[in-house]
Amino acid sequence: MIVTPKVRGFVCITAHPVGCAVAVQRQIDVVRARGAIDGGPARVLVIGASTGYGLASRIAATFGSGAATLGVFFERPGTPKRSGSAGWYHSAAFHEAASAAGHHALSLNGDAFSTELKDQVVALLREDKALAPLDLLVYSLASPRRQHPDTGITHKSVLKPIGAAVESRSLNTDSAEVSTMCIEPANEAEIADTVAVMGGDDWQRWIERLSAEGLLADHCRTVAYTYIGDRLTRPLYGDATIGAAKKDLDRVSALLHARLAPSGGQSRVAVLKAVVTQASSAIPIMPLYLALLFKVMKERGTHEGCIEQIDGFLRQWYGQEPECVDSEGRLRRDGIELLPEVQREVERLWPLVNTENLQSLSDFAGYQREFLGLFGFEQPGVDYGAEVNPVVDIPGVDN
Ligand code: NAD
Repeated sequence: MIVTPKVRGFVCITAHPVGCAVAVQRQIDVVRARGAIDGGPARVLVIGASTGYGLASRIAATFGSGAATLGVFFERPGTPKRSGSAGWYHSAAFHEAASAAGHHALSLNGDAFSTELKDQVVALLREDKALAPLDLLVYSLASPRRQHPDTGITHKSVLKPIGAAVESRSLNTDSAEVSTMCIEPANEAEIADTVAVMGGDDWQRWIERLSAEGLLADHCRTVAYTYIGDRLTRPLYGDATIGAAKKDLDRVSALLHARLAPSGGQSRVAVLKAVVTQASSAIPIMPLYLALLFKVMKERGTHEGCIEQIDGFLRQWYGQEPECVDSEGRLRRDGIELLPEVQREVERLWPLVNTENLQSLSDFAGYQREFLGLFGFEQPGVDYGAEVNPVVDIPGVDN
């Protein structure tokens, strides 16, 4: 079939297998060009390994550090009549490249929040001596909902302010219209639900389970990713429901660190910059903020995407670059975004941008390219008019 983008609001319901493979290869090339990550991890579990920061983590660990990886994700395979999800195609391309380069890789497709999936990971790690004991667990899930493993209740996360309604500028990425939105505050149940989905409880369960099963190396490290941002994004991110969930990651990281540190391990929260991913494009303020941020950072020559951020983060954490740790013990990789001169310029443009000047005042074109790129579109050298087979296998994963 010929696969074209079908964008519905902040998601694209189609994905292009060849374009996704090109995007994965570009990330591999970035890591390889930077050379080996000496002393990096060797046996890695990435939870949320198929897109965004998790995919970049898997690629950097494999092609920078030579690691064997187990990737967990929740993706949809293609059928003869319908394209699969981008994360499915990314993972297929990742497996092909990893295998060609002689790197061991296994994947599991399912609900990482569930006990069943944790059982599967444990069974697999008990059998596979190339993967266990793990020396790194990357927790990079982004999900709108979680069925709680104990109660069976499905919690849904919301993207709302806390305390009072927030009025903010916003960008409709379909119509390229800039408008003003007003978002009512979350109630207590919505805040708790968002923390249940995006907070640290599931991360803690993963580490406790794998530790109890003896599947973590003495020096095992674990990391979860967070975003902090500055004045513009704070009302709808840092101080909002998602920010409450992220604060919970800090709480859990401290607990996990206390558990892992006595044997030489570590738990960290890593603060990353804002990038275009399927998760961030769903956050109401992000598309406009990112379009302006891209403009400012590209002009300064400091623009970075997922792979540049994660590759740099791993090099920092494993001693190849000086560590940047904040007062809360978080590893910072977001300094280039939070530089006062960058934020000042984005803040200056923020009230000026409107539907008419969107293209000139912001890098909306760059934002859109990256957004479509998430789904394998707009990739160089791909013939999008050619027939492709949407059914692509991932070795060892059921279609
Ligand atoms: P993403 O949407 O690109 O990736 C989410 C991943 O989670 C995918 O691999 C998906 O398959 C997997 N997933 C979702 N639900 C699952 C489930 N139930 N079971 C198994 N896998 C599941 O998201 P992202 O933006 O890369 O976010 C990853 C982390 O990075 C999040 O914690 C996010 O808050 C953080 N972060 C993101 C940004 C940003 O700008 N995007 C900035 C800083 C930090």
